[in-house]
Amino acid sequence: MAFEGLTEKLAAAFKKLRGKGRLSEADVKEAMREIRLALLEADVSYKVVKQFIAQVTEKAVGADVLEALSPAQMIVKIVNQELTELMGGTSAKLTIAPKPPTVVMMVGLQGAGKTTNGAKLAGMMKKQGKRPLLAACDVYRPAAIKQLEVVGEQLDVPVFQMGQIDPVDIAKAAVAHAEKHGNDMVFLDTAGRLHVDEALMDELKAIKAAVDPTEILLVVDAMIGQDAVNAAKAFDDALDINGVMLTKLDGDARGGAALSIKAVTGKPIKFVGTGEKLDQIEVFHPDRMASRILG
Ligand code: GDP
Repeated sequence: MAFEGLTEKLAAAFKKLRGKGRLSEADVKEAMREIRLALLEADVSYKVVKQFIAQVTEKAVGADVLEALSPAQMIVKIVNQELTELMGGTSAKLTIAPKPPTVVMMVGLQGAGKTTNGAKLAGMMKKQGKRPLLAACDVYRPAAIKQLEVVGEQLDVPVFQMGQIDPVDIAKAAVAHAEKHGNDMVFLDTAGRLHVDEALMDELKAIKAAVDPTEILLVVDAMIGQDAVNAAKAFDDALDINGVMLTKLDGDARGGAALSIKAVTGKPIKFVGTGEKLDQIEVFHPDRMASRILG
């Protein structure tokens, strides 16, 4: 599971503090140094780490940590609060359109997990009583359409496809199809590329302009670390995304992406993918994730 290294290193830093009873200024400084290193090793971006440590230090000073009876506990609590804030504070929900259908555009680099996780999300919504439709707007790889049909069938969610024609037309037709057939949610599976490029962004912008989606959800692979944060920034600059779905958290990702994305883009992580199976999706809760990181 992700974050193992970070959890271990933070635990080691806190353990040293616990052994000490009252703390000196030097103890706190040393602890901050270790937390800083642990975050950097977990691939949290440098700027985010710097700001994080400054905030924890300020709070520790404000809380008179040196005078406290259980200072170590107090520092753990402050780190927990600040980690929660860093990841957005509270969990962010999917926006539902006042007038159906809610249109969710799934975007992201190739292999990030768009197709799988768009389907997972549709499945989750179905369980909540919605009537989702999956739409195949990734027209460059015939296999992508087939893949969407396969996962749609497994979840018993209908799949709308028109083969390999202009994805803008498919997106428009999918929304019209949903309106006609009583589907209150449409998930658009769009094309990805290995790298962010202008042609991809232009196509996604055209789809956005054509259907005015309720949500643009960026799917990013937690395993690619800093690159996930860079991709998030690029997609957000081009498309003004609403939120992020962070996938492959079941792998041994160091976790930096989860901790940096909100701070760098201002956009919350809304869901996480925790496996290849279609029910392996969770709503992202910053407080629970912070507690998990702290072990
Ligand atoms: P797309 O190119 O962005 O549409 O990516 P896919 O949906 O085809 O996913 C790429 C690969 O990642 C597939 O083998 C998926 O099974 C796998 N995958 C997707 N989400 C997860 C996840 O949360 N955990 C793991 N371990 N694998 C995932």
